[in-house]
Order: sequence, then structure tokens, then C-alpha cells
Amino acid sequence: MISSLIDHAATFHGDTELVSRLPEGNVRRTTWRDVGERSKQVANALTELGIERGDRVATLAWNSDRHLALYFGVSGSGAVMHTVNPRLFPEQITYIINHAEDRVLFFDITFASMVGALAPALETVEHFVVMTDRAHMPDVPGVPAERLLCWEEFIGRQSTHYDWPEFDERSASSLCYTSGTTGNPKGVLYSHRSTMLHTLMTAARDAIDIHSGSVILLVVPMFHANAWGTPYTAAMVGAKLVMPGPHLDGESVYQLMKTEGVNQSQGVPTVWMMLFAYLDEHPEIDPRELGLDYAGTGGAALPLSMIERFERDFGAETFQGWGMTETSPLCVVGRPLPKHAGLGLDEQHRLRLKQGRGVWGVDFKIVDDDGNELPWDGKAFGEVWVRGPWIASGYFRGEGGDKLDGDGFFPTGDVATIDPDGYLQLVDRTKDVIKSGGEWVSSIDLENAAMGHPAVAEAAVIGVPHPKWQERPLLIAVLRNGHDATREDLLEYLSGQVAKWWLPDDVVFVDELPHTATGKVLKVKLREQFRDRNGSQAE
Ligand code: ADP
Repeated sequence: MISSLIDHAATFHGDTELVSRLPEGNVRRTTWRDVGERSKQVANALTELGIERGDRVATLAWNSDRHLALYFGVSGSGAVMHTVNPRLFPEQITYIINHAEDRVLFFDITFASMVGALAPALETVEHFVVMTDRAHMPDVPGVPAERLLCWEEFIGRQSTHYDWPEFDERSASSLCYTSGTTGNPKGVLYSHRSTMLHTLMTAARDAIDIHSGSVILLVVPMFHANAWGTPYTAAMVGAKLVMPGPHLDGESVYQLMKTEGVNQSQGVPTVWMMLFAYLDEHPEIDPRELGLDYAGTGGAALPLSMIERFERDFGAETFQGWGMTETSPLCVVGRPLPKHAGLGLDEQHRLRLKQGRGVWGVDFKIVDDDGNELPWDGKAFGEVWVRGPWIASGYFRGEGGDKLDGDGFFPTGDVATIDPDGYLQLVDRTKDVIKSGGEWVSSIDLENAAMGHPAVAEAAVIGVPHPKWQERPLLIAVLRNGHDATREDLLEYLSGQVAKWWLPDDVVFVDELPHTATGKVLKVKLREQFRDRNGSQAE
């Protein structure tokens, strides 16, 4: 039962601090003991509202101790915790909440006007709880007063005693929809069992390495893939969580890391790019003073330049994990083996560019277009299929049908190689691959190479139609503030690093790249925008 995690944290790590920068602007300190009590108050509040086992309860919220209390209170009581991604389009949010048939919606003040506008279209939501105190209660125009509740009053007046129920561990505990760049978002349902097994695995030294001495900056949002499961793992081991709320700009992140003594951090690479941009403007800051041990990344490839910068400027290790909403999410972690200790720095860095080796519990295969299994030689690439106790078998309410093959493997839509040590390296997503003259060009490799140029802040490579070669790569780059580079500079730089026929036909500079709600470069949009731009035009 997920409730056993919060009971453990409250009993054996009761004094350990949890720090949240709230949407109201202030920083609040609580402890695992407080959140333990709060989660029981949440469970009692749900009982008062008539919420029953299996009912869905939604959140539209940033990372905070309130959100954390909901993680445990909702699932612990037997209801299903449905984290909704507030960065999706309003129509998608409405679709998701109606599809899930959420009965209660908890939300941060940041989303008050959005919720007000959506409320008339939310068919099943009976109660709206604003996660704030009376003094900060916003206007929520579309919601009748009797259905609008104030968190501090409503939760605060509940008893802190509650006996967590015991029930079948295969019961649903939480629900998360994938962002769906095409078509409707689809729901992934997790169970107590899948969550607990994933939690046991993530803490290990060779996985994310979370323990009672960890002070974790949790940048990865709790509304996306359970924040990599870290809220659960942190409770299991009594780690200190530092939750930045909506304040993800470089300065806020830096200040929080400094005042709270953060030694581990988790987030998508784009957040670290914002931190780096802030540090570029403040050369007087020495990031080594932070004492950061590692920066864990995931959700998008970790660029070499980021590995080098964390090591050089912060004295910190970086590694990446790979997985997806459908896989809870962790499947592989990119950490070196003891035998790699003797490798030169360049080789060690190259190793960290690989997404990583499978964690215990997950089986892998890579297959070609005809479904034949490919060898683990680090060269052959094909679609990755995974199998294990925390991998989904399909989507909520059977959307899209059964996804597993006859052996129980799930198709990830990612294309990768696997080397003889079991390190998986992503080449592309199946929908982003670039096929030139019948051969594949890896956009991830090209992007990594381009981001190694000192003037480049971010880069994306897409395939654009070409009369002779079917598709050719186009590089789209964002320059760092105060830096300059031309098309020729970048092509010249790349030509030393990738095969000649991989060289992009052209380079376009833009002020920023479009991102998805989960921080990935939105390639469909770039492909639309630059569809007509092929090499012959560039000449
Ligand atoms: P979405 O809802 O946007 O699909 P997910 O987090 O489920 O969000 O996205 C999973 C996808 O993110 C993976 O299939 C893969 O393409 C990409 N991804 C995850 N981790 C990495 C990584 N370390 N390197 C490169 N791509 C990654």
C-alpha cells in the first residue's frame, strides 16, 4: 500500500524538512510528520465529500508539500490520484478531466482563472478545492460558492487520525495522461503494486541513489509521470525534498539550491539551460559552493556540453534516465560500471551520453521493421520494447487497444541501439527519424554535436522533404545570449564530428524553440514550419 510509505516517513523521519516555494510566493517549511498528518486530513476530507474507493481525484498543481499530502492522502484512502498537466491546452485539460470522470479537483491559485473558465465544461467535478489559505482565496467565477472550498480551512479542520485501509495491491492508485502530440491524450493507470515495486527499485545506488542524506531539488513536475516516482522514494528513505513550485527561472532555482543545501537534483535538460543562462550573466557566482553531488536528467537527451559544464563548474556528476509515462517511468539509468573507472575523461563522457543500462525488473528487446530481434552490439538499431511489473499494458478505458505483443512486451516508439554491456542509446523517436537515401540519420546525435558549439544554447534537427534523398536534416539553433555564429561556423564545427552525409543541408537561427507541455522540443511544429525548406533552396 502506498500509505505505508508516508507512515514510515512520518514515524522514522518525522523531523526531516520538506521545503516548498508556494505559488503565493513564500517559502514554507514542513516535515514528513506534518505531511503525514496532512495526508490523513486529506483522506478524512475525501470521506466527508463522499469519495469512494476507485473514484478519481484530480490535481492541477505545482510541486509543493500540499501536492505531496495529496499524493499519499488520495491513493492511501483507496481513491485514484489523477495528476493533470496544467501546461496542456485548455481543451485537452477539459477532455482529460471528463474522460477520467474526476469527482474533485484540487488546484493552485495560479490556475484559478483557467479553472473558472473550464468549470462549466467539466461534467463530473462536484467540488473544487483551492490549495491556499483564506487570505489568498482567488475569484473563481465559473464555480458556485457552495462547491468552492479553501484548502487550509477544509483540510485544516479534519482529524489527523485515519486508519489507512488495506485492499488488493493491484488496485489503481494513480492516473496520468500522456501529452499526445497527435490525437487525444491517453491515460496510464498505475497500481499500488506497480508503484511500490518501482519505488523499491529507484532508491538503489545504481538507480537514482536516494537516501536519508539526500536533499533533492525536485524540478521534475509532480503532474508528469509521478515526478519519476521521487515523491514516493523520498518518503521511503526519508529524503529532504525541495520543491520549487512554479518558480523555475535560473535565479529562483539557484537561490533555493543554495539556501537549502541541495545535493541532488532532478529535471529535464531545458531547466538546467535556464540555470546556465542565469550563471552566464553572473560570472561572480561559483556554483561549486552549492556542493551538488549530481544532476539527474531525463525526458530528453542529455547533451555533452551539459555533462561537461556540471562537472567543470559545479564539480557535479550527471546521469540520465530513460522511460516514459507508460513505464512509471524509470527503465534505464546511465551510470558507469566499476570497469569504466580507468577510462579517459572523453570516453567517460561519451558513456554518459548513452541513456543507460536496464534497472532490475525491466526486460528489453530491439526489433527491426519486420519484428525481428536485433543483436546487442551497440550498432544495430530498432524500436525498443519493454516488459516488467511497472510497464503499462494499455491505456485507461482501453483506448488504443491492447498494446502488448505475445510475450508481454510494450512498444515504446523509441529507436535505440543496445551495446554488449546492456547500455541503451536512443537514436530517435520512431516519428522523428530522418531517412536520407534509405539510411537513418540520428537527430539526437546531431543535436548533441551542435549543442557542443560554445555559441549554441539549444538545437533541434528535423528531416525536411528532399526531391532526391527523400529527407535531409535541417538544423534549427538558438544562440546563447551575447554569442554569435553563422551557418558556415556551425556546419564547419559539425563536419569534424559526424559523417559527411549527415551534415545538415542548412541551418536556421531562431529566438526560441517550441516545447511540448513536458519540456521536449515540439518537432511536429518545426516540421510544419520548415516543410518547404530543403537543401536546394538553401544553395
Ligand atoms: P510525453 O507525455 O511527452 O510522451 P514522456 O515523459 O512519457 O512524455 O515521454 C517519454 C519519451 O521521452 C520517451 O519515449 C523518449 O522519447 C523521451 N525520453 C525520455 N528520456 C529520455 C532520455 N534520457 N533521452 C532522450 N529521450 C528521452
